[in-house]
Amino acid sequence: MPELKCPVCHGVLKVPDDALDGELFEHEECGAQLELITSNGSKVLKLAEEVGEDWGE
Ligand SMILES: [Zn+2]
Repeated sequence: MPELKCPVCHGVLKVPDDALDGELFEHEECGAQLELITSNGSKVLKLAEEVGEDWGE
């Protein structure tokens, strides 16, 4: 089971081996909604867009 880095709190989030691109996960430690994407052949997590929320840069 891959362990990916949370872009919000920089903690670790475990995702299933069969997780798909675009799948959403909630990081329980910080409550962030994260979207799984593939970048340069490896799976990474990015913050999912939330309607009506401005997360800033
Ligand atoms: Zn987190």
